[in-house]
Amino acid sequence: MIKIKNLVHEYIRRDEDDNVVDIKKALDDVNIEVKKGEFVAILGHNGSGKSTLAKHINALLYPEEGQVIVDGLDASKEENLWKVRQRAGMVFQNPDNQIIGTMVEEDVGFGPENMGVPPEKIWERVEKSLKAVGMYQYRKKSPNKLSGGQKQRVAIAGVVAMHPKCIILDEATAMLDPGGRKEVLRAVRGLNQVEEVTILHITHYMEEVVHADKVFVMDKGKVAMAGTPREIFSRVEELQTLGLNVPQVTLLAHELRKAGLPVSKGILTGEELTRELLTIKAGR
Ligand code: ADP
Ligand code: MG
Repeated sequence: MIKIKNLVHEYIRRDEDDNVVDIKKALDDVNIEVKKGEFVAILGHNGSGKSTLAKHINALLYPEEGQVIVDGLDASKEENLWKVRQRAGMVFQNPDNQIIGTMVEEDVGFGPENMGVPPEKIWERVEKSLKAVGMYQYRKKSPNKLSGGQKQRVAIAGVVAMHPKCIILDEATAMLDPGGRKEVLRAVRGLNQVEEVTILHITHYMEEVVHADKVFVMDKGKVAMAGTPREIFSRVEELQTLGLNVPQVTLLAHELRKAGLPVSKGILTGEELTRELLTIKAGR
């Protein structure tokens, strides 16, 4: 679905006379591959280059150096621009900036309408997208009346209605309360598992990473770590050096290991830890 090779991105700041006054290397030789249907999580502290990477996958930024291929389309080619944007939909952090309609169903219909989808097909898409994120019963409501999690699900439905093959969520859960985060994640996992939409989930919440197929950890514009959640969360100290946490239960298991209990590395859930502790207890 996505193939990124040796991608470099520099933000260049110029003064009035067009002289370069500052260069910021936001991506530094990034290589990433994502298969169709995968759920990929991207971690990294603020300023590590996650949003810049997301914008390249959505063809909002131009790859000056390196290559970005989305669904076989080279994002550096002018004629592919809109195709790439249609294939990779983006959901951003602030739900209030993404909602434009005065009614939920109208909002979700904007994308397909702009794409030139015939009117009768638009309503089909709106209905299906709202059902996919569990917001169909709110279709006649004003988006202003919704909770943060509900607004984000409407924003996701708006992207889904454009039939993307891939959805990139750039910290789309960051401004939500725990309940809202769960709602959104459930909706996104549903799209991934039922509709086989490829998901790139950029997040700070470690619990949202546990179910991913693959994790990339960004640091200073580079991919610092890559692997399955279990592989990544086995490397607690390395993550901490990169300014990141691990899920609470993983940290607890790590502490127990350090204290001498034979607990496995990369414990991801409470059930796993309980099972291991019971085995240890039985063995005594
Ligand atoms: P993240 O999403 O991980 O927080 P970003 O991709 O937003 O990281 O930013 C990566 C680096 O690029 C940061 O140092 C940031 O300050 C810089 N940067 C981001 N956007 C711009 C911009 N429009 N102009 C200049 N520098 C930018
Ligand atoms: Mg960002």
